[in-house]
Amino acid sequence: MFDFLIVGAGFAGSVLAERLAREDGARVLLIDRRSHIAGNAFDFYDDSGILVHRYGPHIFHTNAPEIFEYLSQFTEWRPYQHRVLASVEGRLVPIPINLDTVNTLFGLNLTSEELTAYFARVAEPRERLLTAEDAVVSKVGRHLYNTFFRGYTRKQWGIDPSALDAQVTARIPTRTNRDDRYFTDRFQVMPRHGYTRMFERMLDHPNIKVMLNTDYREIEAFVPYRELIWTGPVDEYFDDRFGPLPYRSLEFRFETHDATTFQPAGTVNYPNDYDYTRITEFKHLTGQSHDKTTIVYEYPRADGDPYYPIPRPENAERYKAYEALAEMTPNVHFAGRLATYRYYNMDQVVAQALTLWGRIRSCRLLSVN
Ligand code: FAD
Ligand code: UDP
Repeated sequence: MFDFLIVGAGFAGSVLAERLAREDGARVLLIDRRSHIAGNAFDFYDDSGILVHRYGPHIFHTNAPEIFEYLSQFTEWRPYQHRVLASVEGRLVPIPINLDTVNTLFGLNLTSEELTAYFARVAEPRERLLTAEDAVVSKVGRHLYNTFFRGYTRKQWGIDPSALDAQVTARIPTRTNRDDRYFTDRFQVMPRHGYTRMFERMLDHPNIKVMLNTDYREIEAFVPYRELIWTGPVDEYFDDRFGPLPYRSLEFRFETHDATTFQPAGTVNYPNDYDYTRITEFKHLTGQSHDKTTIVYEYPRADGDPYYPIPRPENAERYKAYEALAEMTPNVHFAGRLATYRYYNMDQVVAQALTLWGRIRSCRLLSVN
């Protein structure tokens, strides 16, 4: 008898397996229908020996010391500040929009104060920032919105920004200085030997059994367990009872080039040209030295593996029905980006998993006493 059956060996499932086994002595069976652990953070050495991320570029960043410290038990780190350029009008300029972006694009020599005044002049005031369009035009006006955000967002989500929640584009700040880092979190690091290695160490415990290439439905009837932790899509668990929740997918196209470098930054975004949204060159992220280089193109897709919940009001409404049902389902816990239908980064998923662990723990203590 297992104490926990955990479905999904990504961040949510693996953190919970680790905590429950190591701290509480629980017997855990962790399954994944994929052939590997680490979920969407899975990385591996490709045919040329270059470390790549199978499901697109994953850069770790967090402001939370406790998340950084927790993961530091399982990996050493390599400091890494991600930089992104946008290819617009034949030029590569920094994104998030900063002083250099505007000066290069407009052929100007503005100071930070002048740029602040420019933004104040062109910004379209909004009483409430409801949509992904509002979040941008209220800060930088329509011209920069059209140049950097409208096309990219339509490509990425297959929906106009005016129909998506503000949180989608609010992820990208606007700057009036020359800071060209994509993230400004306190901790910005990459696992020195890769994410998969970090997960291997996390799951290396005698109380954790890992079964890969195994879908929950194949084994649910045969495996005895006390409690279930579900980190797959929440609508799938409930057989689409309230209708399917929409997810956005991607197709990844990898290319290895016979050159040491392909592009001047980790990622180059293509807001207005091509069918792909961005190209990432892994060696920037991993710091690997190699005489070849591997890049990945991301092509947004309506169908395929569910990668992104789609933040918009009607989807949140449908998720609420699933959330209420989830809360009423005894001995089943839901965690992670797909199971809680939230556009979460890795650190947020780790935080959510640790919180759930605390809740499970206090319930167990209560039932023992
Ligand atoms: P997942 O990693 O999706 O794990 C869920 C697992 O459950 C999967 O492996 C799946 O196979 C398994 N599963 C589902 N259903 C079943 C079933 N029925 N039976 C068995 N197994 C099942 N975050 C960052 O912080 N920084 C980044 O730079 C970043 N970049 C990203 C880039 C892309 C292209 C994408 C898609 C995401 C990115 N993220 C990034 C987000 C990050 O991937 C997630 O926050 C994190 O991986 C979510 O972990 P999870 O455990 O919730 O889900
Ligand atoms: N975005 C954009 N142009 C850009 C970068 C981002 O329009 O050059 C928008 C787009 O809607 C994207 C969202 O901002 O989906 C969040 O960007 P982020 O880079 O955080 O996306 P992720 O890495 O999660 O795919």
